[in-house]
Amino acid sequence: MSKLYIVPTPIGNLEDITLRAIRILKETEMIFAEDTRVTKRLLSKLEIQKTVAPFHAHNEHKTLARAIATIKSNNSTVLVSDAGTPAISDPGFLLVRECIANDIDIECLPGPAALIPAIVASGFPCDRFVFEGFLPHKKGRQTKLKNIAEEERTTILYESPHRLVKCLGQIEEFMGSDRRVCVARELTKIYEEFKRGTAAEIKEYYETHPPKGEIVIVIEGKQ
Ligand code: SAM
Repeated sequence: MSKLYIVPTPIGNLEDITLRAIRILKETEMIFAEDTRVTKRLLSKLEIQKTVAPFHAHNEHKTLARAIATIKSNNSTVLVSDAGTPAISDPGFLLVRECIANDIDIECLPGPAALIPAIVASGFPCDRFVFEGFLPHKKGRQTKLKNIAEEERTTILYESPHRLVKCLGQIEEFMGSDRRVCVARELTKIYEEFKRGTAAEIKEYYETHPPKGEIVIVIEGKQ
């Protein structure tokens, strides 16, 4: 029986790969990767030699049939993304769905995903939350912001550093300057940083300290 393993990889700190993830990467017949160069660098650090084939976002629809044929011809295939859990704001969802439709077993290992340390360390309620991933840049952005403004659960967004200040400005505009947020930057890395405060305070901070690296924004629910 063919199986597809979904294997999360570190979002910064290499020590965050699990023993099981390493074993599965060692044992699998081949690996589908978002970017083969990124995955080959990780495999080289782990001293694993394996065939790595591309499976990226811009050709996810196109390569689906070929990927399914390959997975069926193997006993075990792995899907990884550049960092974190595949299919979470990364390619993978369509492949998982297609595997299920083709009676291919799916095993998803638990592991790194940026949203989890961000919400837990934000100090906002994390018993229920909404993950929005990246907001659309143009069409639909305002509607999403209006919906988040009314959301009582904690909301998590992924954002790029050069759009952070603009996004915080929009949170202020749509949710009020007192809405509390937490910006989690460079999680698990040397310069990991959490900034907690009102949208106005955090925006002001990043206006004078232009951010670099990777960012998660956590927004407290409407009180
Ligand atoms: N699949 C990944 C996951 O499980 O979190 C997400 C991939 S998505 C293409 C990349 C985005 O995730 C970044 O732009 C950032 O918003 C967030 N992210 C990834 N690593 C991060 C880190 N170390 N610190 C903060 N945010 C991170």
